Amino acid sequence: MRQLFLFVAVAWVVLAPATAPPANAAGDWPWPVVGPVVQGFDRPDTPFGSGHRGIDIAVVLGSPVRASAAGVVTFAGPVGGRLFLTIDHGGGLESRYSFLDALVTRRGDAVSTGQVVARSGTGHAGDLVPNLHFAVLLDDAYVDPLDYLGPIEVWRFIRLAPLHPG
Ligand SMILES: [Zn+2]
Repeated sequence: MRQLFLFVAVAWVVLAPATAPPANAAGDWPWPVVGPVVQGFDRPDTPFGSGHRGIDIAVVLGSPVRASAAGVVTFAGPVGGRLFLTIDHGGGLESRYSFLDALVTRRGDAVSTGQVVARSGTGHAGDLVPNLHFAVLLDDAYVDPLDYLGPIEVWRFIRLAPLHPG
């Protein structure tokens, strides 16, 4: 199943880089990039425990990364040789965009919803499919980004992966 999903993800990235992503989104934020979620959120048991503190959205390397909500850039720069960007949306909410290829905004910039803030990179070290690691924090705790992202147009995905072939 995972292999099939990976294949679909690769096909998506190759064939349809500019369409909409599939997932079970529950909020109203626009997606920072458009593509399938190849790795979901896995809440760590402890603040420093293992887990996955965001979602990985497969997308062509160098794609525009858009602010999911209006806010102020509070960090934009390298950490351990990789580029990160954080936007503070107020009310204890932050979004983080990781393993970027390039930054388009700087710390202190006010950004609007959907504004391009960066270019996507290759993803976590060793990832097979280029992706954006997208994280959301509420009061400094990581939460599932899919609770904030808006619904998506699933039909765009289904045409690449028919659920009822024949
Ligand atoms: Zn990730």
